Amino acid sequence: MPDDENINARFIKIPSMFYSDLTNEPFKTCIHCNKDLLRPGTLYMIEKAFVQTQPHRTRSTILEYAMCYDCWQKTQKTLSKESLQRINAYFAEHVDLGKRYETFQHETDFNAWVQHCLVTGEDVDEMQEFQVACQCDGEYMALHHFPYLLSGSVADELMELLSAQTLDELDDFKRRLTTPSPDLEELFGKKKPLFV
Ligand SMILES: [Zn+2]
Repeated sequence: MPDDENINARFIKIPSMFYSDLTNEPFKTCIHCNKDLLRPGTLYMIEKAFVQTQPHRTRSTILEYAMCYDCWQKTQKTLSKESLQRINAYFAEHVDLGKRYETFQHETDFNAWVQHCLVTGEDVDEMQEFQVACQCDGEYMALHHFPYLLSGSVADELMELLSAQTLDELDDFKRRLTTPSPDLEELFGKKKPLFV
C-alpha cells in the first residue's frame, strides 16, 4: 500500500465491484479480527481477484477479502523483508502513482481507476484475469492512489518476487478465505492475495 501523505482523497459510496460476492453486500467485517468495518472512521482495504470470459466479459470472483488497517499493518510485518523490498522496487520501477493521481484527481467515475492495468496499461476488457484493490473508510471508498487494477500476468510476476517463506504465509492466510465461485476451486487454489 503506497504512502498516502499529501493526497486529498475524495470518497464515494463503495461500488458493487468491491462488494462481497458471497453476500452481494459491502464487506462487513475484517477477515482477521472481525472488526465492524462499516463504522465511520474505520479504515480498511479490499482485495478481489476476478476471472473474465472472452468475448462476453462475464466476470466471476475467485478470491475476495476485506482487512482493517491495523491487521493489514500486522500482516505486512509478517511478510519477509526481502519480499517487501522486491515488491516495493517493482512498483517504484513500473508505476508513477503521483502522475496517475494527477490524471484522475478530477475524475468522478471510479471506473477510470480500474479500466487499465496499473503496470502495463492493458485494458481490463481484454483480460482473462485481474486483481483489484481499494481503500475504504466505513461505507465509503477513497479515490486517490487507490483503487487500482493489476492484470493476471502482473499478479503472476509479483508472485515470482516473493520468497518461499512469504508464499507459505499467503497460503496460511488463504485458509481463512472462501471462494464465492466454488466451480473455480482450481483457480482459487492457485491465486494468492497480494497485500500491496
Ligand atoms: Zn482487523
